[in-house]
Amino acid sequence: MQKKYFLLNPGPVTLTERVRNSLLQPDMCHREDEFAEMQKRIIDKLKHVYPSASKTYTPVLLTGSGTAAVEAMLQTFAKHDEKTLVVANGVYGERIANILKKQNKPYTMIQSEWQHDIDLSRVEDALKSEKYGYVASVHHETTTGRLNSIPALGKLCQKYKVPMLLDGVSSFGGEKINHDEWNITAVAATANKCLHSVPGISFVQVRNELLENGVSYSTSVYLDLISYYTNQKSGFSPFTQSVHVLYALEEALNELKDQGGFEARHKFYLEKSSYIISTLTNAGFELFLDSKDDYSHILISFKIPAQFTYELLHETLKEEGFIIYAGQGNFSGKIFRISIMGEVQISDLDRLCKNIIKLAGK
Ligand SMILES: *Cc1c(COP(=O)(O)O)cnc(C)c1O
Repeated sequence: MQKKYFLLNPGPVTLTERVRNSLLQPDMCHREDEFAEMQKRIIDKLKHVYPSASKTYTPVLLTGSGTAAVEAMLQTFAKHDEKTLVVANGVYGERIANILKKQNKPYTMIQSEWQHDIDLSRVEDALKSEKYGYVASVHHETTTGRLNSIPALGKLCQKYKVPMLLDGVSSFGGEKINHDEWNITAVAATANKCLHSVPGISFVQVRNELLENGVSYSTSVYLDLISYYTNQKSGFSPFTQSVHVLYALEEALNELKDQGGFEARHKFYLEKSSYIISTLTNAGFELFLDSKDDYSHILISFKIPAQFTYELLHETLKEEGFIIYAGQGNFSGKIFRISIMGEVQISDLDRLCKNIIKLAGK
């Protein structure tokens, strides 16, 4: 048997027993009516995670991890004859540019250092001087835990009449998304982060007009959202969906609703992340970003102190039943990250913090 860990990495997350048990339902064929009914119910429940977007946006479901959703969003909507303006300050923003490059689609990237916010003045200069088909960015940049200035980016999108494609993979269900105000065409997301389900299903929430227009720029068969949407209208999918993973997603959405919806989850995330920030900074640990206000409520990054290495921290905490996450790229070995998504309580985080503080001899 796999040992039980608290997963404090940014997805997959620690499940509740309720969601885990929902996986153990009888097998189902994805070409039968009962599948169509289940998929329709899930789409309806996903629509209502953000009630203000429920009438104007529809989630399109596909089998794959979060990157599949980001890639499908860019395949389907980013244009061949108009540039996409990629606004990046971390691994996931830079991945958007990499995906566009592989798709042979034109783009310009406005890149910031990972410890800084997205660069809005360079974005405005770019939007003033050239016509772009889309602006593409990341809501919560999981590389550092920063909640990007997407409201301000959205204002620029309104001002220059350029629609936005958003990677909301690590924020959907946990942070506020203002679809209309941010001029959003589509948001890519996944089942296994803030929605607290298992990995394997992801989705893109798309403005209805674009789905109904049916225009796709995709050169991929598997990642063409329009073909999913066409099938999804009658409850089906062009390819085999991960049926059992959908059982879990439906239960996770029921659970989210029972717990008070996304607003309540957001509030609990705030309690948990504030607890970690205050406990560790009071013990002398330093945040990686300048201020606690830079962070989402979902993930916090700290500098690794001189008293231990990342490897020692990781191994010690793993012994205690906690999985934390390393820094990426240049910050590998320099920072550690703690994500608070999933079934983890303040009392668990208290034990986590005590172990970290003890290791530093503070
Ligand atoms: C987790 C994540 C992804 C997707 O990662 P997968 O490993 O494909 O699930 C994309 N963007 C962001 C911001 C993420 O945090």
